[in-house]
Amino acid sequence: MSNPLNFFGGFKLTLQHLTRPRVTVSYPEHKRPKQPRQHGRHVLNRYEDGMEKCIGCELCAGACPVNCIYVRGLDNPPDHPVSPGERYGYIYEINYLRCIHCDLCVEACPTQAITESKLFEFSFTNRADAIYTKAELVVDDQGFPKHLPWEDWREGEAEMTGGWMRATSPAGEAAYEGVVQWTGDLGAGVRAPEAGQSENRDDAATGSKQLRRAFFKHLQPEDVNADQRGLPGMMNEMKSKMGKMPKRRRKEKEPS
Ligand code: SF4
Ligand code: SF4
Repeated sequence: MSNPLNFFGGFKLTLQHLTRPRVTVSYPEHKRPKQPRQHGRHVLNRYEDGMEKCIGCELCAGACPVNCIYVRGLDNPPDHPVSPGERYGYIYEINYLRCIHCDLCVEACPTQAITESKLFEFSFTNRADAIYTKAELVVDDQGFPKHLPWEDWREGEAEMTGGWMRATSPAGEAAYEGVVQWTGDLGAGVRAPEAGQSENRDDAATGSKQLRRAFFKHLQPEDVNADQRGLPGMMNEMKSKMGKMPKRRRKEKEPS
């Protein structure tokens, strides 16, 4: 016969969780920070001078595994060119009833014209709204994605529209970590590369550190490495920061 006190074992688990940080949020009133490489709604970017990056080459349409991109290119009018190339994207449409957000179009694009923002909170009630046109996809005059009535943008979500591109290095080689091979964007300039996995990464410039911190505080104690917990964890972080400081600055900080 089982021990009748086992009944209280369940309460022990409940009591343990009462003191732990809550991991759920009241979505959609509150949203968690999104990962830098989140694949969301696309944007068509412009160069820093306002010209469109799309040259109407149709490589994105060719790479798309579900044929949801429709592009037509046209020769640039000599008196008021739309893009710096010979041609520009005259028609550009993405059918979001088909898109699987694989980002193959982003990888195929030779000019970084098409990238994905982090927005996935958008839904439609008819087919016409689901097919985004060029006018809806091209960034506005400040370089930000246009906000459509059925999209739920929050503060900061429109700022990182090239996370996936910024995560890749030329030829995918580790030796090129942090090497920028993309052009500047209207409003944002040349975006910093995403932090890599080596000591050379620049967390502050990319926002990666803030994201890691945000998720870190929601972890259960058993999911945190022993050397990162509590006071010893703080001491270890401080030591690692001191180790990365240039020697002169470190001397100034050290007590005499
Ligand atoms: S993300 Fe993938 S499925 Fe969506 S448009 Fe691009 S290539 Fe097509
Ligand atoms: S988005 Fe890029 S790949 Fe697609 S047509 Fe424009 S330039 Fe070519």
